[in-house]
Amino acid sequence: MLSALSESGKTVQLIGQTREEIDQLKKERYYCPSCKEPVLIRAGSVVIPHFAHLPNSICPDKEGGEGTYHQTGKIHLYQWLKGQGYDVELEAYLKDIKKRPDILINWKGKQIALEFQCATIPQEDIRTRSEAYRKKGIYPFWVLGGRQLKRQGTSTIQLHNFHRQFLYNFGNCTLFYYDPIAFQFVVARHIQGTGSRTAFSDLRFFRLPSTGFPDLFAESKLPLDNFWNYWEKHVFRSRTHVKPYLSKQEKLWTNVLYQQGLHRSTLPTAAFLPVSSQVHIKDPPWIWQSRYLLDIYHPAPTGTILRKQHSPELHDLPHHLLSPDPLVEYLDLLSRLGFTKHVASGIYRKERELIFPKTVMDALQQDKIDFQKLKSQSQKIGTLQT
Ligand SMILES: [Zn+2]
Repeated sequence: MLSALSESGKTVQLIGQTREEIDQLKKERYYCPSCKEPVLIRAGSVVIPHFAHLPNSICPDKEGGEGTYHQTGKIHLYQWLKGQGYDVELEAYLKDIKKRPDILINWKGKQIALEFQCATIPQEDIRTRSEAYRKKGIYPFWVLGGRQLKRQGTSTIQLHNFHRQFLYNFGNCTLFYYDPIAFQFVVARHIQGTGSRTAFSDLRFFRLPSTGFPDLFAESKLPLDNFWNYWEKHVFRSRTHVKPYLSKQEKLWTNVLYQQGLHRSTLPTAAFLPVSSQVHIKDPPWIWQSRYLLDIYHPAPTGTILRKQHSPELHDLPHHLLSPDPLVEYLDLLSRLGFTKHVASGIYRKERELIFPKTVMDALQQDKIDFQKLKSQSQKIGTLQT
């Protein structure tokens, strides 16, 4: 840890101290703010000066596993915020909830607990930590270590369940990363899940120190051309690519389709639509959407009133509220393609029959037409919704 208590109870920080000052500080005694045990100053040519517990300590805040990458990033972020005039505390110990956020920011009468999360930790820990902060009226703000960002292309990122825990909704679905080696934030905006472990994202890079804290949250429009090119390619791949490994759900559903004489490659375009709430949904679009189409939509005669039913299974995300409802969003997209008509809140009427393409070529042709239609409808406002 980077701060500890002196004998008189004062918080002492090692950041920004010269070697001589640290040598001077070494003459005093220090205590862990959490367990009150004595801690020692460690400062060498390789390590960042820090306070360390004694080897036999059982303190829950013992610095095990907190590597240089994490410490360096934490110091960068602290100095960066301080340099902008923010009232910040490094590793402030919050007695009543026994938590020590990496950085506590006092901003416009509000408090933000910034956690710089580099290691993969149990989802339960993230949840309890965030809840503890919220109970105290502190906003939990998690920034992932830059190493957690796994890109698979210009606009594709890996999105594992661990990453989903840190999704925020600042006008659009967002993840924050900081890379202390490159001195830069990567803000992944407009994250659109594809249901598997990948997602579309508009990645923005912010170098320190020229970036201001509010810049990270600035509004941005979805780059529509990028998005729809990405989506069309993604659907093309879903139809034509033979996956070497299928998940249990994919196998099961592929079998169900097979028994009905159907295959993923020739499902209607309506089974491959992007709903913004996809990051919450466990199954990929083609599974839950084709299930809805086959179980609910297709058997119903034209004119049938469709209500919200048969919702897909969801992830519970601690920092990202589910809005809009995925099924309502899906039925809205269907109405934009002329399949349904919105009659009242959450209620739609079936307008026409579903057509199943005979060949993959037919299906791809239909994708082109329908995605172009959706794109031109979104053009005016720069989001997926009209
Ligand atoms: Zn301790």
